[in-house]
Amino acid sequence: MPKEADRQAKRGYGGFMTSVPPHVALIVAAGSGQRSGLDRPKQFQPFAGRSVLAHSVTAFLAHPAISAVWIVTGADQMADCRVALGALAADCQLVAGGASRRESVAHGLAAIAAAGGCQHVHIHDAARPGLSAPVIDRLIAALADHGGAIPVMPVADSLSTGMDGVLGAAVSRDALWRVQTPQSFRFADICHAHRAWDVAQEATDDARMLQAIGGTIALVEGDARLDKLTYNADFDRMEALLTADWISRTGMGFDVHKFEQGDTVHLCGVSIPHSHRLAGHSDADVALHALTDALLGAIADGDIGQHFPPSDPQWKGAASHRFVEFARDRIAARGGMIDHVDVTIICEVPKVGPHREAMHAALAAMLRLDLDSISVKATTTEQLGFTGRREGIAAQAVATVRTRRR
Ligand code: MG
Repeated sequence: MPKEADRQAKRGYGGFMTSVPPHVALIVAAGSGQRSGLDRPKQFQPFAGRSVLAHSVTAFLAHPAISAVWIVTGADQMADCRVALGALAADCQLVAGGASRRESVAHGLAAIAAAGGCQHVHIHDAARPGLSAPVIDRLIAALADHGGAIPVMPVADSLSTGMDGVLGAAVSRDALWRVQTPQSFRFADICHAHRAWDVAQEATDDARMLQAIGGTIALVEGDARLDKLTYNADFDRMEALLTADWISRTGMGFDVHKFEQGDTVHLCGVSIPHSHRLAGHSDADVALHALTDALLGAIADGDIGQHFPPSDPQWKGAASHRFVEFARDRIAARGGMIDHVDVTIICEVPKVGPHREAMHAALAAMLRLDLDSISVKATTTEQLGFTGRREGIAAQAVATVRTRRR
């Protein structure tokens, strides 16, 4: 991800605004996703280590020509959208959408215009997470000679009509293409096309609207990874395609904290009443500290003490889920995903069993993982050693992470 200074340079800020930005992205993320059969709109669904939406946002932000990313989402989806974006939300502008995709795009274009406009806009569906820089490059190159450009893929299967389950006539696929997004336009042209559109009809996409006012749209080579996520099964297939060249890495973590006078122990983010508490600079959640080190270890990114020095007063009494979330975000920032974590708590007291389910749920929320990707175990040391003498608690953790090959 580019640094803030790079982003400012891309936006053309040198302490003052210069010309209209050449390329701006507009992502439509307003669907309710009823066809997918998922528990939330598909653009906010976890997918390959982040939300579906975050993939396209990252691709646009990382492209040197794109200076701003606007997102249109449902008026009632703003909060969900920000959660799905995480730290990326700070680099995006959110706009409330309309009743149809066309209306949502129109709201986005109006918001961009109100902010000063741009030379070209790249309108993209959030449900196509496999956006790559070469596709953006091809679209930008085509805009030099055309009012619009869209990525297309050839039709590989033979095509036919059919009626009542019986084969009809063959259809030539010679001049047929599958249309993808982003669809890229000169900003003034697509704004004009939206204003001129007969709102009694719904357009299949923005390219049709430009075509309706006489614009020519160039076809550029699309990408199999740009296919749309529509049904539940698409997620597994597309995730396999996007992560085919990723490698699996394992990290381990270990931590110990001793008991001192107190009444509560924090383990895996759960507060457990006890005759003592664990001594430490933060909330001394020994299990979360081991887990943080396992996550950082998997991406070879130092350890918890390096990122959160005990000498720094801002971490005094800190809730340790922040350390885990920090490590989670470092993995996401590298384009990685957490596959699985396994935490073992080693102590005689307190008893972990009654709290295991709450710990499991707390880790799932912190890591944004399914419960079956998380394991919490407990053991004693048969009354041997410092844990056996009830002097403290030890924890160890293992994390398996997948990242792009670098
Ligand atoms: Mg510790």
